[in-house]
Amino acid sequence: MERVYNFSAGPSMLPEPVLRKAQQEMLGYGKSGMSVMEMSHRSSHFQEIIDETEKLLRELMKIPDNYKVLFLQGGASSQFAMIPMNLFRNSKKADFVITGLWAKKAYQEASRYGKTNIVASSADTTFNYIPELDPSKFDPEADYFYITTNNTIYGTRFTTLPDTGNVPLVADMSSNILSQEYDVSKFGLIFAGAQKNMGPAGLTVVIIRQDLIGHAMDITPTMFNYKIHADEGSMYNTPPTYSIYICKLVLEWLKELGGISVMEKINIEKAKILYDFLDESSMFKGTVVKKDRSLMNIPFICPTEELNAKFIKEATAKGFVNLKGHRTVGGMRASIYNAMPVEGVQKLVEFMKQFEVENK
Ligand SMILES: *Cc1c(COP(=O)(O)O)cnc(C)c1O
Repeated sequence: MERVYNFSAGPSMLPEPVLRKAQQEMLGYGKSGMSVMEMSHRSSHFQEIIDETEKLLRELMKIPDNYKVLFLQGGASSQFAMIPMNLFRNSKKADFVITGLWAKKAYQEASRYGKTNIVASSADTTFNYIPELDPSKFDPEADYFYITTNNTIYGTRFTTLPDTGNVPLVADMSSNILSQEYDVSKFGLIFAGAQKNMGPAGLTVVIIRQDLIGHAMDITPTMFNYKIHADEGSMYNTPPTYSIYICKLVLEWLKELGGISVMEKINIEKAKILYDFLDESSMFKGTVVKKDRSLMNIPFICPTEELNAKFIKEATAKGFVNLKGHRTVGGMRASIYNAMPVEGVQKLVEFMKQFEVENK
């Protein structure tokens, strides 16, 4: 079967070796005689899978011992409520940097449970940059400070992290976790929906500093309490077993490749191929301020709507799929997560060059 180059923003492509391994183990995992999908989450086989997944994630991200790793459900969007319900433990205030739709949603949800403050926003120009942060606007009493490290829709990323002192930094890393090195100890909490860089949809990973666990508001539903999941080893109820298993395969693949530092170099190389072309092209233009460009999501446009539509149509026919940009940005967006091979970006750029010549 012919596989396409899938530039989807999420769920997105998985490394081919991961899919092959899953195929190999589809009917029987190890000596279990059954598929992971058919397995009790309380079985020793599954316990081994979830333990290994956590071990690999800790190793790859160098997660310090005073952090818990939770394998949850509900998507990144559930974290927009779960975070305030658990982290509003003193002042019930939080600082937000609004760099896109997801940050805005997190802000709106948190506003239902406490006092939220917008430190900075790039809404004025459809979020095509990361705003400068003025530390004098940070609330030293805030229970947490919230950012989205990579803005999936708009194609920006924080290249430096704000220094929030004793205020825990909370990061939505859904679209760039595992893509570049981060010092986990700089964060109070990191979370990610798995479907961009970690595995299939259905799994949400939370990495949380231990002292932030155990302060949930009284109204917090049991399933939204980090302490419940931390105490139960993410087995309070049935976790998304198959998604966790695929995540394990993705982490094994990443480790085999050389880990996150090697992945980061490849990601920089991949992004550069496309950005260099956008900078020299007279037809295609990047939409983002250069210094804040994402390594994962690259939005670009042609001079007219007609050309955008024609490009997407012809690209799709050639096997470059899911390139249509988000409706709030228009044009195109190439999501080039870890699993996208360098060759996929090279071929896309070749196609763009050809399109440019043909449509001059
Ligand atoms: C995709 C995405 C989300 C939403 O994730 P769900 O798992 O669908 O809730 C939130 N934040 C960011 C940065 C994303 O890329």
